[in-house]
Amino acid sequence: MATYIVLLGPPGVGKGTQAVLLAQTLQLAHVSSGDLFRENIKNQTELGKLAKSYMDKGELVPDDVTIAMIRERISRPDCQAGVILDGFPRTPKQADALDAMLAEFGGQVNVVPYITASEEVLVERTSGRWSCRAQGHVYHEKFNPPKQAGVCDVDGSELYQRDDDKKETVANRIRVYFEQTLPLVGYYRELGRLVEINGAQTMEQVTADLLASLKKLDKRPLSPS
Ligand code: AMP
Repeated sequence: MATYIVLLGPPGVGKGTQAVLLAQTLQLAHVSSGDLFRENIKNQTELGKLAKSYMDKGELVPDDVTIAMIRERISRPDCQAGVILDGFPRTPKQADALDAMLAEFGGQVNVVPYITASEEVLVERTSGRWSCRAQGHVYHEKFNPPKQAGVCDVDGSELYQRDDDKKETVANRIRVYFEQTLPLVGYYRELGRLVEINGAQTMEQVTADLLASLKKLDKRPLSPS
């Protein structure tokens, strides 16, 4: 049966970086809603134009288009063994839609590592963040610097700072997170799927905690108790 892991946590906590590492270790597909929107913006699609108008303000893209985009993505063959979901779901409506689509695929959300950190840490992490133009690999000038400043270690492409990592927009993204996404913590906790991870640790420690949380998952019954 496919494994579905939802990485939950505020903007800047390191979900994206950890999702890439986990996907490699577990041989699962990494599906990031933010990356999918950025890809659409780069390709100048209609969805990209719509998404950009929300992303630039740090607001959420409407549920219906976001759900349709994720549904299409996780239906593809590379997701058959399972998926690490990064940035989705972000609202209760998206969480319900995810449950329904995974039930259709014969699966369910197996574990929800919830990575937390103080607002101070989040602002520091986002403001020093650099992403690669080609594939979205993420660096931090202090905590995870590239070997050569401004150049991606993996594919050699240029590194840039995301527009929505500007200070004012970050503050709004964090506010939106508390208002719209935080209810999901309670939702997954009640289902017995939530595992809290301290995101203020080093990258390596967070990865180790994440892998340990997944070992616990294997022994749990799949349906909520
Ligand atoms: P991220 O890369 O996850 O920080 O996402 C960047 C931006 O993309 C967010 O601030 C939202 O504007 C948009 N976005 C990403 N995922 C979602 C989602 N699940 N629902 C709505 N908007 C999203």
